[in-house]
Amino acid sequence: MARNKKKIVILGGGFAGVECARQLESYFRNDSEIELVLVSEDNFLLFTPMLPQVASGMIETRHIVMPIRAICHKTKFYEGRVKNVDPFGKLVTLWGTGEKRGISIHYDYLVVALGSETNFFGMADVEKNAYTMKTLNDAVMLRNRIIDMLEQAENETDPILRKSFLTFVIVGGGFAGIETAGELMDLLLDARKHYPTIHREDIKVIVLEALPMILPGFNEKLAKFAKQKMVERGIDIRLKTAVTSFDGTEVTVKSLDVYTKDSVDESKIDVIRTKTLVWTAGVTPVNTVKRSMLKTDKGKVIVNDFLEVPEFSGVFAIGDCALLMDPQINRPFAPTAQLAEAQAKTAAHNLNALIKNLEKEKFQFQSKGQMAIIGKRTGIATFLGMNISGLLAWLIWRNVYLSKIALPDKKVRVFLDWTIDLFFDRDISRLKLVKHETEKEYKVLDEVDDVW
Ligand SMILES: Cc1cc2nc3c(=O)[nH]c(=O)nc-3n(C[C@H](O)[C@H](O)[C@H](O)COP(=O)(O)OP(=O)(O)OC[C@H]3O[C@@H](n4cnc5c(N)ncnc54)[C@H](O)[C@@H]3O)c2cc1C
Repeated sequence: MARNKKKIVILGGGFAGVECARQLESYFRNDSEIELVLVSEDNFLLFTPMLPQVASGMIETRHIVMPIRAICHKTKFYEGRVKNVDPFGKLVTLWGTGEKRGISIHYDYLVVALGSETNFFGMADVEKNAYTMKTLNDAVMLRNRIIDMLEQAENETDPILRKSFLTFVIVGGGFAGIETAGELMDLLLDARKHYPTIHREDIKVIVLEALPMILPGFNEKLAKFAKQKMVERGIDIRLKTAVTSFDGTEVTVKSLDVYTKDSVDESKIDVIRTKTLVWTAGVTPVNTVKRSMLKTDKGKVIVNDFLEVPEFSGVFAIGDCALLMDPQINRPFAPTAQLAEAQAKTAAHNLNALIKNLEKEKFQFQSKGQMAIIGKRTGIATFLGMNISGLLAWLIWRNVYLSKIALPDKKVRVFLDWTIDLFFDRDISRLKLVKHETEKEYKVLDEVDDVW
């Protein structure tokens, strides 16, 4: 292999990483001197906006994932977990497992797009006992859990235990929490017909949110509409309420109305008995980024206006793992797929500029609008400058997100899933899952250039 080739390595196969690879493929389509490499833990792009619909069984699991090899044809793909980034030696090391060797990959240019993971804010008991909604595995596990709870409740004679089986607590009133609560309610009401002893009033879905409103960042009127519709469907939304612990059986919550740093009014501490708590209350960059040699603030990589890491020319950070301030509110941008893709375009443009000695561009973001679905064919959307709610917003959501699925076969499959859901009951089969393999040092293989 010729050594004068330049290698661009992208870390992370999410919205940011994949979009960046696609843009770079189009910039360097006919340039044999540029090699593109993408490394990610999973060999697919997960379409997170539809994750709650996988948890509710409306969409089949595989239909919201797109194999990276099917989207990025000119990029060399490595399925592996990044262990270490060495920006001085320009080297990325991947973990080995019991079955595969760890390897090191040299780069000339680097794009860090490793995204984020669930943030439990240091609450170890919550982390141990809660369900999450971030990965495909999370959605499948939650769906199985909900069905298992219905199975257990159907034959349970102890009324207290039965009640806790049928109480589902979702923590976090953002995108993920609200969409999950809406979908979960749809699944429970749909599935209930197979469980003759479980009545509508036995099922409790509770959303806990620390802020005084749900869906922060949305138009206030639309957020209120969403709340009202969800309450009408029987979802209990408790605002200004924070979780302090969850032992797998009881959630302890405190009212933030009376809470000060030094004193907590004990009378405002409450306990909810549940076996299922879904934690969606925040994300934080992955540990690989936090413990890297790149400068971070609250775990996010500090970048300049060109999305480049100031200390290391040719190293970019984009998506959920990059720290970028929204000049309009003087706070970091909310982590969204829309923002991640916009950053990917700028990073690819600037890499092209760097390599071809052209002028780099500053990152500027203009939101195209926001949308959320809240269950039972209802949604809210700010779209083309208009505020829309109800069935129309739900239809817009479906059209917009369907159009964003990159592979035509997946688009058709999702559309068919939605259509089938209109006419048939949801599948209540519960699948048993295998445990995730843990990381393990095995043997580090040197520079892979020699291998392929
Ligand atoms: C349930 C849910 C619903 C959402 N709905 C919306 C929505 O409707 N609209 C919207 O705009 N946004 C939505 N979001 C937010 C959106 O998904 C994220 O902002 C977006 O995915 C960020 O893209 P990213 O590429 O930065 O990170 P990610 O998409 O998280 O991608 C990071 C990638 O890096 C990989 N990775 C991480 N660590 C390692 C490692 N050590 N080694 C190798 N690979 C690694 C991961 O496997 C992943 O493939 C939602 C998120 C969730 C969880």
